[in-house]
Amino acid sequence: MSSIFTKIINGEIPSYKIYEDDKTIAFLDINPETKGHVLVVPKLEVDKIYDLPDEDFDALMHTVKKLSIHMEKTLGKRTLWKVIGTDVPHAHVHLLPYDETWEHGRTLKLTPEEFEEIRQTLELK
Ligand code: 5GP
Repeated sequence: MSSIFTKIINGEIPSYKIYEDDKTIAFLDINPETKGHVLVVPKLEVDKIYDLPDEDFDALMHTVKKLSIHMEKTLGKRTLWKVIGTDVPHAHVHLLPYDETWEHGRTLKLTPEEFEEIRQTLELK
């Protein structure tokens, strides 16, 4: 069975997408720890990041770096990287705009309008 992230990649379920290329996709985490919490996901479905073939790993890290720089420029906040992977068995990297109120694991409640506003702010075409 496909992972929830593969369903997002295939457009079977919606997401607040900010970036896509041939090997990766990035969208807002539905349970954000900070405003602008992004997940960067390889299109190849594997459980752990180190299961990825080198080419897909390199593509994932390239997108993580590119988006981190873009997010820092756009929001004026350092971008934290986090790799957990115990919830969704499809490799991904969390990108978190850091502010001093951030607490690991605490989630914010955002309205659809707030999600859409931050999506438009962070979108990289
Ligand atoms: P992890 O596997 O790294 O512990 O966490 C997986 C992350 O995926 C969680 O932060 C969770 O909020 C997020 N997530 C789970 N299901 C969905 C979904 O359907 N859409 C989005 N955008 N994020 C999801």
